[in-house]
Amino acid sequence: MNTQITICGGGNAAHTLAGLLSSRQDLSVQVYAPFGNEAQLWQEGIQQNNGITVNTPTSKIQGRPSAICRGPSAAVAGSQLVLLALPAFAHELILKQIAAHISPGAWIGALPARGGFDLCVREVLKERLSEISIFGFQTLPWACRIQEFGKQVTILGAKEQVDLTAWPSGMAPIISARLQELLSMTINPTASFLSLTLADTGQLIHPGIMYGLFHDWNGQPYDKPRLFYQGVDAGIATLLQQMSDEIQLLRATLEGYYPCLDLPAVRPLVDWLKLSYQANIADSSTLQSSFATNSSYSGLLAPMQKTDGGFIPDFQARYLSEDVPYNLLVTRGIAELAGVSTPVIDKVLSWAQKRLEKEYLTSGKMQGADLHNTRSPQRYGFTNLDQFMQEMQYLPSTKNTA
Ligand code: NAD
Repeated sequence: MNTQITICGGGNAAHTLAGLLSSRQDLSVQVYAPFGNEAQLWQEGIQQNNGITVNTPTSKIQGRPSAICRGPSAAVAGSQLVLLALPAFAHELILKQIAAHISPGAWIGALPARGGFDLCVREVLKERLSEISIFGFQTLPWACRIQEFGKQVTILGAKEQVDLTAWPSGMAPIISARLQELLSMTINPTASFLSLTLADTGQLIHPGIMYGLFHDWNGQPYDKPRLFYQGVDAGIATLLQQMSDEIQLLRATLEGYYPCLDLPAVRPLVDWLKLSYQANIADSSTLQSSFATNSSYSGLLAPMQKTDGGFIPDFQARYLSEDVPYNLLVTRGIAELAGVSTPVIDKVLSWAQKRLEKEYLTSGKMQGADLHNTRSPQRYGFTNLDQFMQEMQYLPSTKNTA
């Protein structure tokens, strides 16, 4: 019997997944695209192109989803696998829409999960937890861009391997093995969503470099867009190192409190860069040179908008609007529960929240008026570390029960 899969979302990642998975005869792929008029655009595109074409560096793969749906019931009922290929700010909304229609036994996951995905799912789907499994990818496996909406997407680069975690944790090897087979890439099962949240390096790199490049911006347009990764100077490298050190202190503190806890995937930033990009870094002697001489980052620009006078920073871009509420604030919230002080991360967050026109941290605490739009533990009512670790089942000896 064919496996039925639902892909939620209509953007770059959803196009890629829809094309790749629906090219297989043994899968029946449906797309849930409720946003704007995307469902109609997908249907028209697929009709004209006879499916979705995925251009990879070496080949063209053609698939054709069996249905493009605007309604959650038709999209999700009967699916064994539900993939959220969405920016993190859309996860909660889409989960609420599909909650009543998810089939018992389904696996629900996000690519990428970002921080606190499990907190969000366990809150939204709390009535269904005994019937489902949750999983999250550490990153999206591809850099991909739509060429023509509903017709063609291009994979610019694919990661060789990706980490995945699951709840209940015993499902991680099983879900990894199945997705590895479906996506033809190495997928490593990792310990827990706690590890996935703390190990996300985008939460350091993106807000950290935005702060470094623009915290003293005087409001005057720049003549040309600024380089993002290659804009990392000695001062920004020091800031990133300090942010990374604060997360390492949090890791060590948690491992000290809970000797059964082991978080090896939560690596110092410089180690993560070496592991991810070793072949592409010409000079890995310092953190700054690891950014400056990394060919994967070459020429990539900071998010900026063109104005009459030149280019100004785009503070609403995802480097702040996604990485702050759905990544760094989750980690910052865990640090607060653990009593770990994070002065450099707080400096970056205090600046970022002003630029986002939000209030998350006030008087050094996770208690601002916009906390409900984050996935920090405090948003979900956690004020005690032991309770958080136990209820979220982050300790290896904890029996997984719904
Ligand atoms: P995208 O911008 O192409 O996707 C946007 C889609 O999200 C929209 O098309 C819509 O379907 C949905 N959406 C947006 N707002 C919504 C709303 N309010 N309600 C419901 N749906 C809404 O994003 P993407 O490139 O597919 O990326 C998905 C995730 O992967 C993001 O977290 C992104 O940061 C991450 N990522 C992407 C890439 C890449 O190369 N595309 C690389 C690494 C990580």
